[in-house]
Amino acid sequence: MGHISLNQITKRFGEVEVIPPLDLEINEGEFVVFVGPSGCGKSTLLRLIAGLEDVTSGDIRIDGRNATEVPPAKRGLAMVFQSYALYPHMTVRKNIAFPLRMAGLDKAAQDAKVNAAAKVLNLTDYLDRRPGQLSGGQRQRVAIGRAIVREPAAFLFDEPLSNLDAALRVNMRLEISELHNTLKTTMVYVTHDQVEAMTMADKIVVLHAGRIEQVGSPLELYKAPKNVFVAGFIGSPKMNLISGPEAAKHDATTIGIRPEHLLVSHTEGLWKGRVGVSEHLGSDTFLHVHDTGLDDVITVRAGGEISARHGDTIYLSPDMEKLHRFDAQGLRIA
Ligand code: ADP
Ligand code: MG
Repeated sequence: MGHISLNQITKRFGEVEVIPPLDLEINEGEFVVFVGPSGCGKSTLLRLIAGLEDVTSGDIRIDGRNATEVPPAKRGLAMVFQSYALYPHMTVRKNIAFPLRMAGLDKAAQDAKVNAAAKVLNLTDYLDRRPGQLSGGQRQRVAIGRAIVREPAAFLFDEPLSNLDAALRVNMRLEISELHNTLKTTMVYVTHDQVEAMTMADKIVVLHAGRIEQVGSPLELYKAPKNVFVAGFIGSPKMNLISGPEAAKHDATTIGIRPEHLLVSHTEGLWKGRVGVSEHLGSDTFLHVHDTGLDDVITVRAGGEISARHGDTIYLSPDMEKLHRFDAQGLRIA
């Protein structure tokens, strides 16, 4: 259950082709994250899977069955949105039970399913409250509960954590990952946040202007980005991308080196520069190094205890084994 197959699907809004022909396999039980900048087509793709939008061409198979013409309610999928869309006048119990009531399930069966979902989501003590009496995180859990009771073949999440503050987001991220470990149901999760993608996904799909730039596990994307776009998008802080003569020395149009793959020294190294802003996180320090003669400011991850002041001279040496090379088309050179 929960195998979704997209075959040459496209989507146009009027004259605008938002999704050019696209193929994708989402395997049973997988946690797949669609990630990409705002407007790249993540929600559209998810809504096509859900059936909330019709494909312009191509077909969608769910568990081997052609679902292209199947209405959303009959696809066996459950969608969770950024806005929780809870009924304010109903208790948590009634909100979660809503799809079961609609399906005409008897009261005892409804209660059993609601109680089980509440237990998984730590909502047992809140079943008699109304949404207005809950925190943002709890409301989102209620929305997830309403999806769980439907026992869908797959969960579809569209930026479900965007409305929460940073600390709560990290918490809910862990809870959703836990939920996936417990339920083992296919989850398709949309976010513009590459950290969410990296931490939650079995498989990341990087989208850009409606196209798939790369599909792979978080570490595959981190270690071997297929092109400059993925290289710059995955990783925090961003990979340093350098063009010009320094790249040409390595037979590339662009070279990339991650902040954590640069060695810092006060006395010697390949590139000499001047410390600009340093960001002390305690565990790490991110130094922004200027005037290296390269075409951009270089970001370096140094130890938490490094003593480097604004204006200090500093030397950087890339770990050559970790250098990424890209050609004039921006494609990775093996
Ligand atoms: P994302 O979720 O990645 O931010 P969307 O899937 O919402 O991106 O949008 C992708 C593109 O499709 C955008 O350019 C957006 O303006 C356009 N788009 C989305 N929905 C519609 C619609 N109903 N009508 C016209 N254009 C749309
Ligand atoms: Mg969106």
